[in-house]
Amino acid sequence: MALNRAVIFLGPPGAGKGTQSKLAAQRCGLPHLSTGDMFRDAIARGTPLGKKVQPILASGELVSDDLVTGMVEERLSQRDCAHGFIFDGFPRTLPQARQLDELLASKGFGKPLVIEFCVSPEKLFRRLAGRWTCTVGGEIYNEFDAPPKVPGVCDGDGGKLVQRPDDRPEVVRERLTAYERQTKPLAEYYRRLGVLEVVDAGKSVDEVSRALNAILHCAEGNNGRL
Ligand code: ADP
Ligand code: AMP
Repeated sequence: MALNRAVIFLGPPGAGKGTQSKLAAQRCGLPHLSTGDMFRDAIARGTPLGKKVQPILASGELVSDDLVTGMVEERLSQRDCAHGFIFDGFPRTLPQARQLDELLASKGFGKPLVIEFCVSPEKLFRRLAGRWTCTVGGEIYNEFDAPPKVPGVCDGDGGKLVQRPDDRPEVVRERLTAYERQTKPLAEYYRRLGVLEVVDAGKSVDEVSRALNAILHCAEGNNGRL
């Protein structure tokens, strides 16, 4: 079974891209590629890349295009990416989108399938203020809408839950500004390419997941085919 398609979840911070990527990746049997997770991992391990990007993530600004695309190119050369993947948080600028087009073409992939997550700013602030993430498996919770059974502890693996430093309101404002200025124009770029789908991501996790299933056609039972 070959999927041979790049899927891009496009949307502002807090739209639910990570939550839905994990569900869709599992359902479709595809790797979930979150550039934000890759940077946080590099920071946690104290690598040279981590040291370079740590202050950038803390400020809410975007990491330079070359650093991001270099990291993505390396990740795509791994074997699990041979038949498709889900991008969460990449691309975030027009140069990144253009570089990705070239990268996909060089690997024999066609145009990506892009799904834009639309949510009101009020909901985004609430979701980010309530986000808690497991330090072990990366499961995502929300203290208002999807709380763990025991506060601060992951239901799945008992790992410690933490809040992201960049989810503080002053950094969230910077991240949303970066999204509006640098990332939102990508929707138009992909609409022109004829590959853009839009979902109302303000709905519940289950409703959004069903909408994504309908687009991806890879609900359980069909072997993860698009
Ligand atoms: P993103 O990856 O787009 O930044 P996340 O998937 O991390 O967003 O979700 C941000 C927060 O919103 C998390 O606390 C998550 O539990 C919560 N969340 C995600 N999807 C929904 C939804 N459909 N309804 C309510 N809360 C949600
Ligand atoms: P995220 O986890 O997607 O919210 O990303 C967290 C932070 O990582 C962002 O605020 C940026 O600083 C950085 N980042 C992640 N992905 C990218 C990207 N594609 N381009 C530039 N910066 C990125």
